[in-house]
Amino acid sequence: MRVPIIAGNWKMNKDVQEAVSFVKQVKDELPPANQLETAIAGPTLCLVPMVKAAGKSPLKIMAENCYYKDDGAYTGETSPYALYQAGIHHVILGHSERRTYFNESDDMINKKVKAALKNGLCPIVCCDDTMGRRVTGKKVHWVVSRILADVHGLTDDEICHVTIAYEPSWAIGTGESADPDQAAEGCYLIRQTISDMYGDNVANDVRILYGGSVTTANINALMEKQDIDGVLVGAASLNPATFLQLVHH
Ligand code: PGA
Repeated sequence: MRVPIIAGNWKMNKDVQEAVSFVKQVKDELPPANQLETAIAGPTLCLVPMVKAAGKSPLKIMAENCYYKDDGAYTGETSPYALYQAGIHHVILGHSERRTYFNESDDMINKKVKAALKNGLCPIVCCDDTMGRRVTGKKVHWVVSRILADVHGLTDDEICHVTIAYEPSWAIGTGESADPDQAAEGCYLIRQTISDMYGDNVANDVRILYGGSVTTANINALMEKQDIDGVLVGAASLNPATFLQLVHH
């Protein structure tokens, strides 16, 4: 059974005080995590105070990125080991803004995914609209090339700790969400790709989210789709009341 998840991604918004105030406003209004998971990814500086403010509430605090080394001479980077030790057990990797503005390649993201898992972090791996079909011998594979590269080399057990977010870059921050059928098709193709790589049983355990201009107006239609296990929400997650509306959609 895949537990649905509503995850916010604040990006480089909010200072520590605003972040803590948000967490305090929402933390007692959330459903139990075994019914619906709730998570917020915040700027690195805010994470430890957010974990403290969330206390024992079901709200999971996520990092928006990490490096693939545990320690060393990597000025300005964040260690996955240190995140885990600080109580942060989830990390977004491969967001399209990281790929576009910071030139992150699939190879780099694959290294980060492996390092995160090795340190006990559960990654949400974002992938864009790079879909197609590939014929090998007589078999037609659904191919979401980003996913093939980003999760390359993971074991069955490791891939089950990964959540994948289908985020068409044209829908991110544009107000132009994929329509629910398009979004569901994207998530379906990703599941088929995982199934080709790991088999149906594993593919049925992996959560696949949709992200890109999700709002209180479109969340119901998206969450009704069988292949959409949750949403990754940017702008609409910044306001506590709106985040709670999304959670209680
Ligand atoms: P958006 O961002 O909801 O503001 O489109 C989504 C994301 O970047 O994950």
